[in-house]
Parts: sequence; C-alpha cells; structure tokens
Amino acid sequence: KGRNSHEPEFIQAVQEVAETVIPYISNNEIYNGKNILLRMVEPERLISFRVSWVDDDGEIHVNRGYRIQMNSAIGPYKGGLRFHPTVNASVLKFLAFEQVFKNSLTTLPMGGGKGGSDFDPKGKSNDEVMRFCHAFMTELCRHIGPNTDVPAGDIGVGAREIGFLFGMYKKIRNEFTGVLTGKGLSWGGSKIRPEATGYGTVYFAQSMLQSKKDDVKGKTVVISGSGNVAQYAAEKVIQLGGKVVTLSDSSGYIYDKEGIDAEKLAFVMDIKNNKRGRISDYINKYKSAEFHEGKTPWGVPCEMALPCATQNELDGEDAKLLLKNGCICVAEGANMPSTPEAIHAFHEAKILFAPGKASNAGGVATSGLEMSQNSLRISWTREEVDERLQKIMKDIHDSCIEYGMDEDGYCNYVKGANIAGFVKVADAMLAQGVI
Ligand code: NDP
Repeated sequence: KGRNSHEPEFIQAVQEVAETVIPYISNNEIYNGKNILLRMVEPERLISFRVSWVDDDGEIHVNRGYRIQMNSAIGPYKGGLRFHPTVNASVLKFLAFEQVFKNSLTTLPMGGGKGGSDFDPKGKSNDEVMRFCHAFMTELCRHIGPNTDVPAGDIGVGAREIGFLFGMYKKIRNEFTGVLTGKGLSWGGSKIRPEATGYGTVYFAQSMLQSKKDDVKGKTVVISGSGNVAQYAAEKVIQLGGKVVTLSDSSGYIYDKEGIDAEKLAFVMDIKNNKRGRISDYINKYKSAEFHEGKTPWGVPCEMALPCATQNELDGEDAKLLLKNGCICVAEGANMPSTPEAIHAFHEAKILFAPGKASNAGGVATSGLEMSQNSLRISWTREEVDERLQKIMKDIHDSCIEYGMDEDGYCNYVKGANIAGFVKVADAMLAQGVI
C-alpha cells in the first residue's frame, strides 16, 4: 500500500483483484516471481494539468484535469472521461485499473485508461460546458490519438461533451479521426453505443439467470441512477418483460409500484437528457410513484438489483436488506458500486453476483466496435452492432464460468472476471519483457 496509502478507492479495487489473482499466480509457474501484479498497479503514465475557463459572468475558474494511462500491453489506452466534483487521482486510478481487466475481457485489443476533471457540469450553461470542454482538450490533445489513447464518456460526460471535445481536437490537429468514442451518429459514432452499457448489463444478467434455467421475464427489478447506464438498463429490462420499480439520482430515489414502463421511461429520458432536471420531477407526472429524498433504493423488495449510479453506493447493510427481501441476482452497471462487505454478503448467500468489470463491459466493447468502424470508414447497422454486443457479453459470461467456478458448483464471477482479464494482459506483458 506504501506509496498509494492516501488513495482508498484505488486500494479497494486492487485488493479485490489481488485476493483472487495472487492464489492463481502462485499456482501457475509462468506468472510466478515476475512481479506482474506489482507492475500492473503502477500507471504507465499519470498526467495532471490545469484547466482554466471563463464563466458566463466573465469570472475565471481553474479545475484540475487528468488522464491516467494505466496499461497498453494489449492495445491503445481506452477508457472514459468523468466530470464530477469527487474526481481525484484515487478515483481515476481505481477506474483505470478496473478498465485494464474489463477491456481484456471484451476480447478486443484495447489497453486501459481513464481521465476527467473535478469540474461539475451540474447547473452550468451550455456555453460554459462548451468552454470548459474546449479548454480541457487544448491540453489533453497532446496525449491522445487514435492509435495511442481513445477516451470516451463516463459520469458527467455524454454526447454533448464528447461533441465539444471532438470539435476542439479536430481543430487543433486538423484531422478527422476516431480519437474519441461515443460520437454522434452523423460524425463517426456507432449505433447502439449510447445503449451499450445498460443493454450489456442486462444481457449479462440474463446469461447468469439462464445458467440457472431462469429469466429476466417477470422479475421485479430495482435500478439506481438515472443517467446513461440506468436508462438503457431499464429499457432492456422492460423489453425482456421485467418490471422496473425504481430509479434514482444523487438527491434520492423514486419508487413506482406499478412499474416504470416504456412511456414513463421516455419521460425520464426527456427530464434527464434534454431538460437536465431531477428524478424527483417524475412524481409530478406519475401519481403512482413516491420520492424518497436522500435515500438509495436497496430497501425496495425485488428479485434483481442493478446498481447503475456510482462507486460504493451499495454497502453491507444494503446487501443484507436485498437478500432478506428475496433478491437473487445483482449485476453491476456502475463501476465498483458494491462495497467489499456487500460482495461478501452476496457470495455468502450464493446468489448470482456480477462485478462491473464483467457486466458493464458492453459499453467499452461497443466503443471498440466504433473504433473498428472508424478505421474501416464504414457503419454497421443497429442489428449488426447489437448482435456483436450480445455475443461479447455471452463470451465474457463464459470466461467467468471458466475461471470462476468453485468446487461446489457456485460461480464466483468476481474471481472469474479477475483471472480471465489478468491472463491475457499478463501474457502480453511477459512477451514484451520488462518495460
Ligand atoms: P451519468 O452521468 O449519465 O449518470 C450518473 C447517474 O448516477 C446520475 O443519475 C447521477 O445522479 C448518479 N450519481 C452520480 N454520482 C453520484 C453520487 N456520488 N451519488 C449518488 N448518485 C450519483 O453517468 P453514467 O450513467 O455514464 O455512469 C454511471 C456509472 O456507470 C458510473 O459508475 C460509470 O463509471 C459506469 N459506467 C459507465 C459507462 C458508460 O458507457 N457510460 C461504461 C461502464 C461503466 P446526479 O444526476 O444527481 O448526479
């Protein structure tokens, strides 16, 4: 822990991987004594920079920008940009570390990275967000490129921000390349990319349930968050015949006992994406719903839970409550939303539990497909991309089963994802020597 002792989120992410991968390394001679994990936890490069910008009243602000280039053993760095006041080096290092394993699991040639800023887009005008994104890219542009590092969106960075970032990159470099993913459809984006993380999470949950001869159909589902991942996770659950009863944001959650159907979800998408409003606006229109201020939704009875907001949003007590109420399947749409205590409780109860690096990998996988389409200068149909996404999620599920099956027949998806992700990166690092 030495030089990282002031980085709790990073230590948490590394600890979870170390607990499952170290025993595997000890039992496999080729990895033994090579200090591979020690090399993996040190970013290849950590860039931090000043971002100065001017607000609508003419006042100058300064934020801190970052890009963490974690591991490029199997491909160019790839991972999102997060704009949120909680962003710091620890949070981005945990995300970049997870990204290395996740990208490896997708089977596509992508290394791991992550970046962002402590800038808060909430309450800012469109012009302010544009000026911030432009200022951010004037520095970031010298560290990224279509064959070097290809950022995407994350919390606080959606289609609007990717547009502003791409515009400034193109202006400075005078080239139109696939340097960012999550682009608009008319300028290099891939169909299904906005949907991919949420859809992929539900495809993964479906694979887990099917391995137990069960199905999403008919399940009551609790979802946290109401951003990109949560919205499309909800859409896919509804399409597969499940009943979504909650959504949330940082101010609280809404519970609609009658279920959030396609029409109600369209209303949520309009509030969040176009009006940039709050989830509590839902109860003004739908009287069947309640708003619980300042609370997370884990006390609502359900069979399936999809945490899709942020890290450490579901703790040990929440997990016990979910289990008590009959939850049998948890798939993480967010990155590291469950605390170690929560994961322990799910494992002890032997329910289906998918860690984000496996279940939310559909987003980056489809970003990988966007990169391929950009390189080929072609555009696949919705059906083609969705088919590829479904196959990738199924393959990730099968890799988890291969490496994660316990002797008693219980699949520990955390162990499976960590080891399967590790093997490919470790093999590449061994082949490339000590660099
Ligand atoms: P968005 O910004 O679109 O939405 C984030 C949602 O989570 C909002 O509802 C937000 O509420 C809520 N939220 C954010 N921070 C907090 C917090 N500290 N406490 C409570 N609620 C919070 O982001 P995404 O949907 O893209 O990302 C959600 C999660 O999914 C993140 O963990 C991200 O890393 C992960 N992820 C995203 C991928 C993608 O493709 N976008 C890919 C893989 C993982 P509010 O509006 O009030 O802030």
